[in-house]
Amino acid sequence: MPYVNLRNGQICKAMNFLWQCTLVVVLIFVASTNAFAQGPSPSYFHDLGSQIPWAECAAYQPGGSSQKIPFIPAIVTAPVRAPAGTQGYSRDVQFDSHLVFIGEGVAETESDTDSVPDLGGSVALMALQPTSSATFEERVMMLARKGAVAVAVFPKDKRVFYPVLKPELMKEFEDLVPVIGLSHDTARRLFEAHSPLGEQDLQRWMEGGEAPRLGRMVPRLRCYFEGRFRRLESSNIVLLSRQSAIDEVEAAELLRLNERSVASILDTFDGTGVTWTKTPAVYFKGYDAKVFYTPHWGAGFADATGSYLLNSERPDFGLVVHEHTHSLFDRSWGETVSFLAEGLAMYAQAQATDPMMCHQKTRELREAGVSVPLEKLLGHEIGTPGQATDFGYPAAGSFIEFLLHQGGLSKFEKLYREARPSPDVDLGDLLLAIYGATPSELEAAWISWLADIEASETESKRR
Ligand SMILES: [Zn+2]
Repeated sequence: MPYVNLRNGQICKAMNFLWQCTLVVVLIFVASTNAFAQGPSPSYFHDLGSQIPWAECAAYQPGGSSQKIPFIPAIVTAPVRAPAGTQGYSRDVQFDSHLVFIGEGVAETESDTDSVPDLGGSVALMALQPTSSATFEERVMMLARKGAVAVAVFPKDKRVFYPVLKPELMKEFEDLVPVIGLSHDTARRLFEAHSPLGEQDLQRWMEGGEAPRLGRMVPRLRCYFEGRFRRLESSNIVLLSRQSAIDEVEAAELLRLNERSVASILDTFDGTGVTWTKTPAVYFKGYDAKVFYTPHWGAGFADATGSYLLNSERPDFGLVVHEHTHSLFDRSWGETVSFLAEGLAMYAQAQATDPMMCHQKTRELREAGVSVPLEKLLGHEIGTPGQATDFGYPAAGSFIEFLLHQGGLSKFEKLYREARPSPDVDLGDLLLAIYGATPSELEAAWISWLADIEASETESKRR
């Protein structure tokens, strides 16, 4: 993320890190946090009053009565980060089937699967939290193989959550069926509709008692959401956008902007040996749609699978460069700590727009008293709202340029590759080992280098 709108809580790799660290991310939203100020909270999508024009789901009964069923799609993180069942934004999701309650799903052993009712053509309703060791990915795959056309998952407790399916955790994982996340309250409403005892059964289960009886429920579930996005391709980019949100002319313009950004990045990193492979750039109109489909709250997010961007009125070239830089180096050099990933992306963004951007912003913030010691920034998850992020983005960009200037690219590549996001890795120790100086020594040298380049910049402007 560029630093420009940080106060509004644009978050880039920090959220990426969160998603990568947790199989199923459970987020509890506290009113006082401003972390996700730009997009709606998950509760918004679970609210009965919210109208989502690109998605709808209802449970209905033979007599003709029905209930609105709000949901959030589960995201499959690779090969493209997209809602489960859309196969990388290539198909709409649509199903209309019997609802079968299957408790916690199935364990990894065959004998356990025998206890699950026949799912041929049904939607499996499953609790999020398993008591067995089967992962979420394993449970979803098992249900798909047993004939479920979709999986609806809900938390047994009262938290709001996003289901995330990570193919890297299960090698044979295939994006076969849609998976939707329901809130606990929505699941409760389905149980209410099931029988006079449904709701009490659920309550008893939550309190540690026996699970409600497995089997077909009274209501059927009919759901739809747009998942087939328009696909425009150029030599380096596959641009995906929802047809009803972004028209073709606009999409074509975005494609050209993205091509230019790749050219700029390859120019900046000419000679590094990194190569670009054709990559998806997925565009969303509005934070509400972006959160629904990705779920990410900032204007930009990127990882090795591609870039996921907000379509703003005036496309931000710097932002596109920034995100594609993340994507390129995630693929080429692997994952690294936030400080280096953001620093490199900020550096590329500055090279593409205003080479003094990071240096000037760093100086302005230091003069305004918004400054954080380098030692502290090294371990900071840049993007987490606060002073260390406000200062961290431009400072990391400026510091990375300093490192490149000091030690060249090969030293930097070594640092980047060795600084894996792990509790065992200390960026300060790596800097000492690779650059032969402690973080505070490097900080002093950087500040003095900054003063020199600002002075020469001022000098060249005078001429
Ligand atoms: Zn970033």
